[in-house]
Amino acid sequence: MTRRVLLTALLTAGLLTGACSPDEYVAPPPTQRTEVADPAVAAETVAALQDDIDDPGALARLGADDDAAQLLAAVSRNATGLRLSDVTLRYITETGRTSGADAWDGLVAVTWRVEGFDEASARAEVPVSFADGGSRIAGIGADGARLPLWLTGPLVVRRVPGAVVAAAEPAGEIDRYARLARRAVAATRPLLGGRAGVVVEVPADAAAVDRTLGVQPGQYSAIAAVTAPVDGSQAPGSPVHVFVNRTVFDALDPTAAQVVMTHEAVHAVTGAALVQGAPLWLVEGFADYVALRDVDLPVSRTAAQVIKQVKRGGVPAALPADTDFDPTATHLGAVYEAAWQVCVVIVEHGGEGALVALYRRVLGGADVATALRAEAGWTEAELTAAWQARLALLAGVQK
Ligand SMILES: [Zn+2]
Repeated sequence: MTRRVLLTALLTAGLLTGACSPDEYVAPPPTQRTEVADPAVAAETVAALQDDIDDPGALARLGADDDAAQLLAAVSRNATGLRLSDVTLRYITETGRTSGADAWDGLVAVTWRVEGFDEASARAEVPVSFADGGSRIAGIGADGARLPLWLTGPLVVRRVPGAVVAAAEPAGEIDRYARLARRAVAATRPLLGGRAGVVVEVPADAAAVDRTLGVQPGQYSAIAAVTAPVDGSQAPGSPVHVFVNRTVFDALDPTAAQVVMTHEAVHAVTGAALVQGAPLWLVEGFADYVALRDVDLPVSRTAAQVIKQVKRGGVPAALPADTDFDPTATHLGAVYEAAWQVCVVIVEHGGEGALVALYRRVLGGADVATALRAEAGWTEAELTAAWQARLALLAGVQK
């Protein structure tokens, strides 16, 4: 034990010196690192975490201090509250950073699945800080690393027909999110049928959304909610949840909040987040079509941004391109409204059944032109012309 402490002290001194005068720095031999990190002990600790995942008291005892104990107890309660199944935790490796005499950071492979909602398990490699030679856990997560919401701290969970909602404490508006989620799933049923439900995750703030999704800070700062694979995997069957950015979402009026939640629910129940190759005007336009279907507002308001754009610059030459939907793009609202109007003209021409069939076929891998011809009897040029005519009409301009 004495030797280990000494080696770490030397290592720290070496690093500090190195920062000041690089020429004096001597890299420590790799054996010094394994003196600190004891993989066997850490693997046992992680195995205990898995075995006792339903026991908050047992998990708390693995914590290196009060904060870690509270975090681990919360992780246990989250797993129970969310009814997680297939929870596995496995120590992978040390990541090299050490802190203190017998503490180090490692990586733990985690799998989990929300029972009754996720078809397959999500998997992530989560940074974990070990202490006491690996026998205790000092913390979970690291700057810039993706961290699943249920491992971040206490969550409040609500269950409603068709949805489960988990929000970071303080949960504030959780009953509102749950009500919106229930109505959102109900709104998808008349068009899409099915029994699939939605998991809604509500991190503490915009920065926490970025961390939960493992994206660059600020990527979703202007977005009210996003539907995404829980672990970033695009593999078929990967769990897809709705993530709410409270910072934006909580400021929405009741109608807008419902439209956002229903829009995301459409993405989630149809698995749109895992589909490559479907044009975004159809994916996003369809989600808005369902979300706005029962909204009793004049089109002058629901399509106000694209109307303004057409009044200024005339009708667009082509259907919205996928790149127009970049979350950081300007005039994003107008692009979504334009895509919604594409779906509206398809319904006016072929009925809702045609739109739903087109959407399903294209999500299933069919080519848009072929599916459009089969389901609506239109070429893409005819669709574009009808859409341009409608935008011109709404804006009161010549096509
Ligand atoms: Zn969307």
